[in-house]
Amino acid sequence: MTFRSGELSAADRIDTTVAHPARRYNYLLGGKDNFAADRQSGDALAAAMPTIRLAAVENRMFLHRAVRFLAQQGVRQFLDIGTGIPTADNTHEVAQAIDPAVRVVYVDNDPIVLAHARALLNSTPEGRTAYLDADLRDPERILAHPDLRATLDLTRPVALMLVAILHFIRDDEGPRSILDRLVAALPSGSYVVASHVTWEFLPPEVTAKLEANNQDGRFQARTTEQFAGLLDGLELVEPGIVSVSRWRADDAPQPRPSVRDVSFNGAVARVR
Ligand code: SAH
Repeated sequence: MTFRSGELSAADRIDTTVAHPARRYNYLLGGKDNFAADRQSGDALAAAMPTIRLAAVENRMFLHRAVRFLAQQGVRQFLDIGTGIPTADNTHEVAQAIDPAVRVVYVDNDPIVLAHARALLNSTPEGRTAYLDADLRDPERILAHPDLRATLDLTRPVALMLVAILHFIRDDEGPRSILDRLVAALPSGSYVVASHVTWEFLPPEVTAKLEANNQDGRFQARTTEQFAGLLDGLELVEPGIVSVSRWRADDAPQPRPSVRDVSFNGAVARVR
């Protein structure tokens, strides 16, 4: 949270003229921490795929159910990479409602999230939270960070959360290697929570419009099979890889939205 001299402050690093994923997601969720460029980008996506706001909300509900599930399984430590702008029911709030002693390390590389990080540091007195301004593509820096080491005990199970972030890591950036390096640092009995946009259920005309909105190639949707490849070697928890809207959603409002309307896979897997 502190800046070394010579580094730009969070405010100076925020460019409001181009759309950023964290702010666009905040807009799609109905939040207020976004700018005109983010809203334009979100509206363009919604024009291509009218159910995209539903998809964002369903992803967020998946995150809540997965955190609750793991806290009920006894997991007391979470490493939440790709935190997003704080909103209602952040990871520590959901988990600490089950056990106030839960510890959470948040990581994001967007300065807007850093600027809002104070809202993530309101841990219960029994628990602890930390925020790292760091990049998923540098897992060693995350794992070695003194604030992580002061917050999480890496000899005890950790839930590594990669929720709606892996589609921002292109194949040439080595998503599988990044995941392997993070998982290698976690003891057996740890978990990985992940969600990933898929375009495989969408009609080609919708996919073409979404592609047209991705000219910088920053975004990489992956099929269920490709997502499974990233998680290969881990032990999938029931029901495996399914639409985020269907993951342990028996208590969610029925009927559940369709797999196509959501176009977002989710899974929880155990580290052997
Ligand atoms: N996990 C939250 C927020 C998802 S939005 C949820 O599912 O509700 C995706 C977040 O990932 C954004 O905040 C974005 O800034 C962050 N992100 C994208 N690429 C990243 C990277 N390489 N390193 C760290 N954070 C990244």
